[in-house]
Amino acid sequence: MASDSTKILKVFYCYAHRDKVWRDALERHLEPMRRLHQIITWYDRHIEAGVEWKKEIEAHLNTSNIILILVSHNFLYSDYCYGIEMQRALERHKAGEARVIPIILRPAEWKETPLGELQALPTNGKPITSWRNRDEAFQDIAREIHNVVRTLLAQPQNRSGSALPFSIKSLTLRVLYPDIAEEWDPLENTLTPDNIDATSEQTVWWRCIANSSHKWQATISSRVEGYRCPVCTKKSVTDVMIPFGNGLRHERQSQGWSIYQVAERLEVPTNTLAGWEKGDFMPTPMMLRRICVLYGKTPKELGWPEE
Ligand SMILES: [Zn+2]
Repeated sequence: MASDSTKILKVFYCYAHRDKVWRDALERHLEPMRRLHQIITWYDRHIEAGVEWKKEIEAHLNTSNIILILVSHNFLYSDYCYGIEMQRALERHKAGEARVIPIILRPAEWKETPLGELQALPTNGKPITSWRNRDEAFQDIAREIHNVVRTLLAQPQNRSGSALPFSIKSLTLRVLYPDIAEEWDPLENTLTPDNIDATSEQTVWWRCIANSSHKWQATISSRVEGYRCPVCTKKSVTDVMIPFGNGLRHERQSQGWSIYQVAERLEVPTNTLAGWEKGDFMPTPMMLRRICVLYGKTPKELGWPEE
């Protein structure tokens, strides 16, 4: 059955803060599903200052379709994670409202807990740290979660009990397009990416990620479809984008990596990477951070234009 492309599932991460690096790694492996708009993800870093965090966590836990429990001794010994979040997650799983998937990070005594009754990932519950190649462990996890996502999206919507997928129309710009939300101009707009719909036709102000003095107005839909900073894309190609592209190509070549290898590591299509290197367009701040990590350079060292 084909899945409904206007529906999206919410994935909740239940994890101990000490396991944050694992959550980050898993998030990167689930990124392709986020880009396909099959899932949105939620974890406690999304809590804004001043919000009562326990209520906020509970609200998201209660509306998620898939709950990933990152299992380690840190998790099992946390009263909040194990005692409160996990119990609520299991109640929803038993009621058929949500799918709970334990992700086994490292060896721990989880099989004796109620988690032992669930189908854990990686396959057969073999902890990620026990795999010789951790990328393969993450790949295994991502593939299985993708299967669950496809199944849930293909289910008839009126199936009793299970939480309904979200309609893309009801999501905010920040949730659906976090990269583009970073170009939102906080000074010129009265609304924020957190309270405007991602599918809104409203015209708003954008602020260039390469140079914050570049501002332009465009509807949200045209920005989503690729209408970027008019200054950078027209007038100053030679000043800004070509040097940055050259910097990127230089880094890649000095590492001895092919365009395919780097595109795969960054999880972008090869023509996107080629476009950056040619100076046709610029990466979003989120992508820039990943590029910097990959090459071990600061944005400035890569030729990223200064403010
Ligand atoms: Zn610009």
